[in-house]
Amino acid sequence: MDQQNLESLITFDRDHLWHPYTSMRDPLPVLPVESANGVRIRLADGRELIDGMSSWWAAIHGYSHPALVAAMQEQAATMAHVMFGGLTHEPAVELGRLLLAITPDPLTRIFFCDSGSVSVEVALKMALQYQHALGAPQKHRLLTVRGGYHGDTFHAMSACDPVTGMHTLFAGSLPRQLFAPRPACRFGEAWDPADIAPMAGLLERHADEVAAVILEPVVQGAGGMWFYHPQYLRELRRLCHQYRVLLILDEIATGFGRTGALFACEHAEVVPDILCLGKALTGGCLTLAATLATDEVAGTISAANPGAFMHGPTFMANPLACRVALASVRLLLDSPWQDRIRAMEKQMRAELAPAAVLPAVRDVRVLGGIGVIETREPLAMARLQEFFVERGVWVRPFGRLLYLMPPYIIRSDELTRLTSALVAAAREGE
Ligand SMILES: *Cc1c(COP(=O)(O)O)cnc(C)c1O
Repeated sequence: MDQQNLESLITFDRDHLWHPYTSMRDPLPVLPVESANGVRIRLADGRELIDGMSSWWAAIHGYSHPALVAAMQEQAATMAHVMFGGLTHEPAVELGRLLLAITPDPLTRIFFCDSGSVSVEVALKMALQYQHALGAPQKHRLLTVRGGYHGDTFHAMSACDPVTGMHTLFAGSLPRQLFAPRPACRFGEAWDPADIAPMAGLLERHADEVAAVILEPVVQGAGGMWFYHPQYLRELRRLCHQYRVLLILDEIATGFGRTGALFACEHAEVVPDILCLGKALTGGCLTLAATLATDEVAGTISAANPGAFMHGPTFMANPLACRVALASVRLLLDSPWQDRIRAMEKQMRAELAPAAVLPAVRDVRVLGGIGVIETREPLAMARLQEFFVERGVWVRPFGRLLYLMPPYIIRSDELTRLTSALVAAAREGE
């Protein structure tokens, strides 16, 4: 693209296009991208960046993978879309078969939808309809933990952390949910039974008004990149049974290998009543999510008035997205993904460790393919974006968090470029 076109693109973008969580009056600069291949993002000015973000957990195989491109091209030539009301197709059925084969057995019913937030809305609506069907419509609130993130639509937002989810801004419109403290006991530490006590107390006091507990298993993502003890989930599973409250696990960020297990709930050997999947489901190619439920949930909803689950997005089970998801999950299962995640984990542990002693740093933590440096003070985003681009890497911090979640195919020397840039950024903060 020539210089003039490039400038006009940037100007139009700045004047007319919203970006995520960005001001229209005073936006931070955005970088025009020309293409992306493997772990490299190529900017319009010719510079190449090594990707440390997988486009927010999604591009686990890197960009423009030939198998995924071929799947999309073939499907686009056959049938890009057809409505799912009254019709079905092989991409949805084959993807459904594969998802049931790799998720815990009691999950048997799949709702395909457009995005992670919508899959959370679907899960929450299922929980409400389930309690309604059981003759307990007063059980309509949600219980969750602080530090969570479940999406930007209203009901999902009501279950996000009240502070980072900016609940005061929308106070009049948001349902008011119940919050236990963030699980304090870390992944890999000795389990402290006191950690579950506040959650147990809330369940005991509010069981008659709670429909479901929703949380991210083991790894809290956008709410703070925090890794907690799997025993918390085992205790919670038992409590949910005891109080007849559904357990919804949001694996939108953690699913498909990122934490070292195919699904993070496997660290705890816990099976939820409802499971949300998204992000890496299509390998980062198209937007698609899925909400899986047990026979018990689906059967109870369907047995009561109005006899159906009341949701049906226009682009439900979009064939193009299902087809590329099928190709992406197969590619993952056929790859040595466990070895790759283990190698990434070991290398990030070694290479991020030097940051732990820096005065500006509060904590360094690594789990699977996720590496985090938490600083004491909020980070200067604009300056850091330049800092990373100058070093040829794509890293996008938020709040007090410098973090990496690279594509699984990254080479060791490329990962070193990312970790050294991260440690250098933490050192700058001194
Ligand atoms: C990203 C995310 C969502 C929302 O997904 P979108 O596709 O952005 O709507 C929900 N839950 C978790 C845990 C996420 O990481």
